[in-house]
Amino acid sequence: MTLMERHKKAAEILPAVSSLVGGERYAGVSSGTFDHINPATGQAQASIPLSGTDCVDAAVAAARSAAAGWRNTPGSRRREILEKLAELIVRNGEELATISTLENGATMGFGATRFVNMAAEWTRYYAGWADKLDGLVVDTHRDEPLVYTIPEPFGVVGIIITWNAPLLSLAMKIPPALAAGNTVVLKPAEFTPFTSLRFLELAREAGLPDGVLNLVIGGPDTGAAISAHPGINKISFTGGPATATKIMQSAASNLVPVLFELGGKGANLVFDDANLAEAIPFSATFALVNTGQGCALPTRLLVQRGIYDTVVEGVTAVVRQYITGDPLEPTTFAGPLVNQAALERVSGIIDKAKAENAGRVVLGGGRPGGELANGFFVESTIFADVDPDSSLAQNEVFGPVLSIIPFDTEEQAVEIANSTAYGLTNYVQTSDMRRARRLARDLRSGTIGINGTGNMHVGAPFGGVGISGFGREGGREGVMEFVSTKTVLIG
Ligand code: NAD
Repeated sequence: MTLMERHKKAAEILPAVSSLVGGERYAGVSSGTFDHINPATGQAQASIPLSGTDCVDAAVAAARSAAAGWRNTPGSRRREILEKLAELIVRNGEELATISTLENGATMGFGATRFVNMAAEWTRYYAGWADKLDGLVVDTHRDEPLVYTIPEPFGVVGIIITWNAPLLSLAMKIPPALAAGNTVVLKPAEFTPFTSLRFLELAREAGLPDGVLNLVIGGPDTGAAISAHPGINKISFTGGPATATKIMQSAASNLVPVLFELGGKGANLVFDDANLAEAIPFSATFALVNTGQGCALPTRLLVQRGIYDTVVEGVTAVVRQYITGDPLEPTTFAGPLVNQAALERVSGIIDKAKAENAGRVVLGGGRPGGELANGFFVESTIFADVDPDSSLAQNEVFGPVLSIIPFDTEEQAVEIANSTAYGLTNYVQTSDMRRARRLARDLRSGTIGINGTGNMHVGAPFGGVGISGFGREGGREGVMEFVSTKTVLIG
């Protein structure tokens, strides 16, 4: 079977998408349709009806009507429903992974299946918080009032997410919002509506009452209508900094609090005392996984001069053996980029970097041919000797491009790492634990991964500083983002 035939057959699994309001498919005013293009084939595989702002009004109204019932549902029942949802995510894992692959090109072997597992894990974790959100009793004098606090939901939360890991984004936001007793209006990117639709269907199957979680399918205008809506009480957003600025301006008109998970330009500092047998495969693989479409990936590899050539060669050798190809094949490492716009943007960045001599191309730099030529594929690309001040090193690529930069001293490495406007994640590879602890302080980011770790743990906060955003997802902080604390004084 050709790639085209394989994907056509697989696409039979895609559900018919529409907005879901109050548990019903929404049939209001349409604002047109969106042709969903399979990123691996470049062929249209579904027509997505886009909702207009009337749907945002209807979804907010449904969420408001469901709010009192949901906040007064016992925490133990909310926990049960979310636990069931986690179980259903696992049970439908293969289908969800295939849908992810078809909608954004995430590879089955290195992306989609992992996102399903993470989605189940985050949902199960936040299920556990639903009956454990307690307040505190303040230590007051015997003649003073009794003072205590009650954690309360905000009300209706607007959740707007992007396309690169939608299942994970859903699970990082929706379970904690629901666990805390909020109701939700969700808008995924129009490029990835299928996973959101299935997530809602599974939530309903798990017993979530109608109206508690509503889905609006639309583009930027729909997102803008959610962020400006007076019926929304909190906004949680994952996407780019430029969009976040607009959302914040809209939210300001209603004084609505916002949580922003934005981009990143993570540095990975490899020192000459690092265990290279681990550091090299980690640095190569983690920079380019999900075809580089990840906010938290270590896309700038900073290597100490003495081991520089060894690491450049080693990383290049690891990436060279990875397969770029059909994302449905379990052995494929790098799939296509999400859409034509991403292909043009990333190809443009590579061409500009070459023209500006921002670095030396040691691998890739072009597009694969054959049957991949129809899809949005770009070769895994490595630039060495990159100028740390170049646009390539300073700005997010969001594609399979790794920049390698040499350094001499720890101070110089910190200066380069901290030189971008982003601050989501940084990484250190060293066997000197005192150095590791110093760098954990000196590097400017929400997370530091030391010695081959990832960047995220469900029980720990994840989020950025600088233009990478603010607010935290994960752990206790992640659920407290959806809680407003009330203080009670009793005389
Ligand atoms: P984007 O900001 O263009 O779009 C994200 C979402 O916002 C989409 O649903 C879109 O329809 C909606 N939107 C667009 N304009 C809007 C507006 N004016 N008002 C309200 N909503 C609007 O994001 P993108 O460029 O497609 O996504 C990539 C970005 O997301 C990258 O910067 C990446 O690093 C970031 N990201 C961050 C994280 C994280 O956890 N920190 C995770 C994944 C992706």
